[in-house]
Amino acid sequence: MKIFNSIKEMQVFSLSSKRDGKKVAVVPTMGFLHEGHMSLIDIAKKEADIVVVTIFVNPTQFGPNEDFSRYPRDFERDSRLCHERGTDAIFAPEASEMYPTGASTWITEDSLSKGLCGKSRPLHFRGVTTVVAKLFNAVLPDLAVFGQKDAQQLAVIKRMVRDLNFPVKIIAGPIVREADGLAMSSRNKYLSPDERKNALSISSALREAGKKIFGDSAGLRDFVSSKISSNGGRVDYVEVVDAETLEPDCNFERPLLIAVAAYFGTTRLIDNTII
Ligand code: AMP
Repeated sequence: MKIFNSIKEMQVFSLSSKRDGKKVAVVPTMGFLHEGHMSLIDIAKKEADIVVVTIFVNPTQFGPNEDFSRYPRDFERDSRLCHERGTDAIFAPEASEMYPTGASTWITEDSLSKGLCGKSRPLHFRGVTTVVAKLFNAVLPDLAVFGQKDAQQLAVIKRMVRDLNFPVKIIAGPIVREADGLAMSSRNKYLSPDERKNALSISSALREAGKKIFGDSAGLRDFVSSKISSNGGRVDYVEVVDAETLEPDCNFERPLLIAVAAYFGTTRLIDNTII
């Protein structure tokens, strides 16, 4: 397994793989890998000849009071996990490699980024679209695999790729959960045992909501929200939106996304389900 820190070396490797007729996949991550990330590597391996995992805690997608500096990092462990799973290359640049001094160019998606997480994290998706575009320019992939866990991110990336004509196929991987239902996340590490137990209310509320019949989306929202609050969670949002357009939608004929963000202690968790 190769490890690249420089954009130039990453590009040379990718271009030479492509010249040999190989299809290149990228799995963008912020590291501290878990089975959710691994499942995306497995999908990438099925779809392509060369799998590149990027590991970069992207400063521009964190707000000023968010957890950038304490975001968990363990490159040794990550690289071992990637190697064991058959990854061909890791791209792990320093922030100075990705953002040269004076960098002043951004990619902004102006519609899907506004709601859900965009309301409480106003510059988050600008950071995500910009870094993903830059990672695409470094890795030059034929396809990229993203998790449905970050449903809004997935929708925003698909829109960016369509709008800016990136020659990259976007593939979605299903949410991987712990045995008890908690969606896997690098941020679960922050939870105390009690918070972790209470945080199960997110996945159980989503699961129950998926099975019940509601007259309207407000009833569905209230159901999920009160389950989480009564377990000590501070709800940032519970929204029911069209799974594709992310528009608020009461049309129960089309697939609906129930998306949740809630704090347990100081840890903000997100989860979702499609019904
Ligand atoms: P992150 O390292 O949190 O930025 O996530 C990197 C990629 O892994 C994103 O495409 C996420 O959607 C995906 N991912 C994170 N957690 C999960 C999970 N539990 N199941 C599936 N994909 C996930």
